[in-house]
Amino acid sequence: LVIKAPSLATEQQLRAFVSNSRDKAYVEEVIRLYPVSGYSPEIVIAQWDVETGHGSEPEWTARLNPAGIGVTDARDFGYSWTTPAAAAQAQIVHLSAYVDGYNYGLRKYLGQDPRYLLVLGTDWAGTVSTVDDLAGKWATDPDYGQKIADRVSRIRGGVTPQPGGKLSFGNVPRPHIVDRVIPDSRNWAWDRLGQRMVKGVVYHRQLGTNWGTDAWFRGGGGGIGLTDYGIDSKSGEILKWNDPWGKGGPGVSTNRSPYASGGPGGTSGDGTAFVKKLGRIAINRDLASIEIDRWYESPISEDGYSAIILLSAHLADSAMVPWTDYPYNPHTGLNFVYWHNEFQGEKPCPGKVVMDATAQIIEDTKQIMKKYQE
Ligand SMILES: [Zn+2]
Repeated sequence: LVIKAPSLATEQQLRAFVSNSRDKAYVEEVIRLYPVSGYSPEIVIAQWDVETGHGSEPEWTARLNPAGIGVTDARDFGYSWTTPAAAAQAQIVHLSAYVDGYNYGLRKYLGQDPRYLLVLGTDWAGTVSTVDDLAGKWATDPDYGQKIADRVSRIRGGVTPQPGGKLSFGNVPRPHIVDRVIPDSRNWAWDRLGQRMVKGVVYHRQLGTNWGTDAWFRGGGGGIGLTDYGIDSKSGEILKWNDPWGKGGPGVSTNRSPYASGGPGGTSGDGTAFVKKLGRIAINRDLASIEIDRWYESPISEDGYSAIILLSAHLADSAMVPWTDYPYNPHTGLNFVYWHNEFQGEKPCPGKVVMDATAQIIEDTKQIMKKYQE
């Protein structure tokens, strides 16, 4: 996503993204400054959205700081602005220091950003082209660019951030799932960590066959591991070993958070963001584990693939994630889709075949969600 680029959103979409008069005044100024700066207004607004929690954080509500200007990991310089328009000017000027160094069109507004000269004096001045380039410069969060990109696609999709506005949930069909929920007496590889919820999914590879794993979890592996679902990569058959919403039954405790995706390992990528926000305890509690059977290099048949996207779409829809946001989950402010190795870096799981297919899996999952949510 190149910052200095033509807008792909209509002014109507930009305006519809915010609701109160203060935020609307901010958006108007961003729109007005677009021909002046040349920066895509949806990117500027998306950055504001990430930085202010859609205009909800005190930095914005109390002092109109649009994007953490003068707020570093170490301290907050406490800058404030008097109008939303001045805040928009400051943000765009600050951005210009990174993107252009000096942007002639913005010369009248340079005084709005008390930190402009500071950036201009660094080697970062004029080095930023895309939103990903901002990570490590404007913000320390390595996922900063991705977060902005998620918001940009929402603005361009014309979807307001309140999920449920125009979409309906609960209509994505549940794929056929064989109930193989394992009783407590056969498997105790789980903890009571409170109410289970589905805030995302974790893809795994089984390193065995679906029914072989079924036997393992209720036999030798009863104290070692447990996951929620297994998918046969050839036939597409789905087995359920544990309920991701914590439903119990005869001989089955409620809220069994299985020894599935967590553990002591190092996190990376989206896994790091997840743990930072919800804590390590949430990995096994708040994420449904999906194990695709056979080995890291084993191909996945069409039936196996269908089962993956159908189950993922059903879970995401049950969690009321709008298809327009997927794989972003607006309820958590985090991604919905994870790999096991994003929580346990020392494991290659789910391996090359699943990892290479993930972008397509996400896209196809999204299309199923769209079909039923629209
Ligand atoms: Zn795994």
